[in-house]
Amino acid sequence: MTDLTDREILVIDDSPAVGIFLREFLLKLGFQKVHCCENGKIGLEAFNELIDSGKVPIVFLDYNMPDMNALSVLTQMLNVRPDVKVIIETARERSEESIKEVIAQGAYQYLSKPIRLENVKEIMKTLTAEENYKDVSPDDDVIQRVEFLITTSTRTSLTRIAQYMGKTKEEMLPIIQKLESDKKIIKLKDIKEIACPDCGLVKISQIFHCPSCKGSNFKQEKLIEHYECSNVSSANSYVDDICPKCRKKIKVLGSDYRVMDNYYLCNDCSEKFPELSTDFLCLRCNNRFEIERAKWETSPAYGRFS
Ligand SMILES: [Zn+2]
Ligand SMILES: [Zn+2]
Ligand SMILES: [Zn+2]
Repeated sequence: MTDLTDREILVIDDSPAVGIFLREFLLKLGFQKVHCCENGKIGLEAFNELIDSGKVPIVFLDYNMPDMNALSVLTQMLNVRPDVKVIIETARERSEESIKEVIAQGAYQYLSKPIRLENVKEIMKTLTAEENYKDVSPDDDVIQRVEFLITTSTRTSLTRIAQYMGKTKEEMLPIIQKLESDKKIIKLKDIKEIACPDCGLVKISQIFHCPSCKGSNFKQEKLIEHYECSNVSSANSYVDDICPKCRKKIKVLGSDYRVMDNYYLCNDCSEKFPELSTDFLCLRCNNRFEIERAKWETSPAYGRFS
């Protein structure tokens, strides 16, 4: 039985209170090596240092950080270690949809704020179970393994199950049908998944980058455009409503300046853009590809019988 308590844990959160809180919880659960980082930049440096010394940390990452967008941090980590487990801390009022989005972007789980001990415990328990599951010997009961795969997630496709088990979809079908007739699982609608164009794996993660330099070091910003001198820069740069370029005061919203919400600002090349570009990363062969090159796999999905 693998015990995860000696694994390094990285907490990246700009609130020291949250950092202390999480460390307390994790210590209670037996985790000794908890490192707190106050922003994305420091967090990434600590992450890279750990990776360089051969350790893969479990990461707790705040969704809203001042210096870098969580997607940027997540993407940069996945680029280094596609198998890293990143748990995103999000405010409870975030919609179901946006949480699903974060998970689709390669995060392992989300943790809603205010953080509760039971939730941290639950996540660490699942993580430990999954790590141990990987060590299960191949002659263990195949039916049991398939049941575990299906019932521990909301829905799992036949393609994914077959790939995980290292078998063909046809070989998996009798096992799936047995679980179905035993009322352990139910068949859901077909799902279409993006697969790696080289190896066909559907376990891939979405990688976000700047459309101009392809870097992943970006943050989300509110920008202001001053019409008169055509300066566009972060709202914070207009100190006391003075335009940082022409030094004139901005006066009337809509007639001499406009606010551009939710823009991204690249920390590497200073490009400003309303939407991120994306690539996909295969978690088996590390192949990075664009959507146009993706292979699509359609297969039925299965979920827990409830
Ligand atoms: Zn691949
Ligand atoms: Zn850039
Ligand atoms: Zn100006």
